[in-house]
Amino acid sequence: MTTATATKTGAGISGINSDAQKFISKSKKLLINGKWVDASSGKTFGVYDPSTGKEIVQVAEGDKADIDLAVKAARKAFDSGPWPSMTPSERGKLIWRLGDLLEKHLEEFAALESIDNGKPLAIARVADVPLAVDLFRYMAGWATKIEGTTIPITVPYAPGARFHAYTRREPVGVVGQIIPWNFPLLMAAWKLGPALATGCTIVLKPAEQTPLSALRLGELIMEAGFPEGVVNIVPGYGETAGAALAAHDDVDKAAFTGSTEVGRKIVHAAAGNLKKVTLELGGKSPNVVFADADLSAAIPGAASAIFFNHGQCCCAGSRLYIEKKVFDQVVEGVSAEAKKIKVGPGHEEGTQMGPLVSEEQLNRVVSYLEAGFEAGARAMTGGCRIGEKGYFVEPTVLIDTTHDMKVVKEEIFGPVVTAMPFDDLDDLAAQANDTVYGLGAGVWTRDISKAHLMAEKIRAGTIWVNCYNIFDAAMPFGGFKQSGWGREMGKQALDLYTETKAVCVAL
Ligand code: ADP
Repeated sequence: MTTATATKTGAGISGINSDAQKFISKSKKLLINGKWVDASSGKTFGVYDPSTGKEIVQVAEGDKADIDLAVKAARKAFDSGPWPSMTPSERGKLIWRLGDLLEKHLEEFAALESIDNGKPLAIARVADVPLAVDLFRYMAGWATKIEGTTIPITVPYAPGARFHAYTRREPVGVVGQIIPWNFPLLMAAWKLGPALATGCTIVLKPAEQTPLSALRLGELIMEAGFPEGVVNIVPGYGETAGAALAAHDDVDKAAFTGSTEVGRKIVHAAAGNLKKVTLELGGKSPNVVFADADLSAAIPGAASAIFFNHGQCCCAGSRLYIEKKVFDQVVEGVSAEAKKIKVGPGHEEGTQMGPLVSEEQLNRVVSYLEAGFEAGARAMTGGCRIGEKGYFVEPTVLIDTTHDMKVVKEEIFGPVVTAMPFDDLDDLAAQANDTVYGLGAGVWTRDISKAHLMAEKIRAGTIWVNCYNIFDAAMPFGGFKQSGWGREMGKQALDLYTETKAVCVAL
């Protein structure tokens, strides 16, 4: 363990964006009360390039003591100081400015995401960073539109009396936000955007695997002019920093994205002060291809539904249901798409699929594959780790799978899809819903009635028809069942960062 000020230069990473390289070579501290500080313990932890397993840099390791300081700073910024007295328009302008700054540094952020998470540079450029920019701009617009209502009231026990009643929507307060490693920057944006628009203050804990883009975003937050303490960023481990944030008595709301298992821990931790909780958790999303679909779109669509971000998406289309008469054609088509994918280091131009994020994730995915084969599944393509260096796994299409297998029931969070035939619509809906999750689903058909019927029958937060993985800042995202509580994005997200206050005035 080195000290927080000692950093490695990331010199082993050749050819990445020079601004990203410069940022990597600086010391990585915690953002607390507008200042970059070492961890109270002096500890740091390593961040690794998943394409080689080599350390990129050391980052200050926040724990309970740092979370305490950050929550204190967020509390002070919420209760006094310039933030609560800013006009909605001023708040909106700051958020917009943050979006502009992020856009200005798009190449740098794409490089950071790619080196830290392993995702292809080309994807980070067109998806992760622009979506984050757009989210900030969308939420900037909402800052001036957080409205209450006027309510005509009767009060039967006060005949003749007159009242003026209305509601105010006020920020929920200090928010603890804990995010995962699969879309490090975008998840930070999804969390920060609505919290800032509504006037909350924040302690953000990035995932220990991927803290770099959140730290660079912290610099832009200060450059944009947010008052000190409004956004605090404390990288650290889940069991220490994350748990301390979720349990903190002075945090009014915990917002979490990650595994369902940790989601449960957040709920338990939040019980102490009954803080509000929103959760965006796991999934095992069905993707249904009917025989009448435009297969020239459905086949690449089904491949991208699972292989996008290496299957490390909570809404990945990981259970593929194909109508019997086109089963062979679609499975062969998706397998052919899988074979075409160029796998390599994310930060190398031309890569279409990078490594999984960590050795732990690699072991997890490989052990699911082994369990699948043991239970009788067969790989149409893929099924193995690639090479010995880095955490690469072959894009995999499994057949001969059944609903009692782990590979069908549990979230793998890797580039592995199970393909299963169906021939009856009612049975299909039951199979699609035969999961504890309910995050996303896809339906591919030319029959508009079938599309809407399936959209109604499948119990999931998002249904994509003749498309998959389409996200927009204005479209709410979140889960039914054990996929979560609440929604991210859209105006629904704002409701979850506000308290409704009723005011009643006797006239
Ligand atoms: P994964 O299993 O895919 O790594 P996790 O759900 O473990 O996803 O992690 C998502 C986020 O939750 C990370 O920021 C991680 O540090 C954090 N985390 C993990 N365990 C806890 C915990 N017990 N309390 C709070 N946060 C946690």
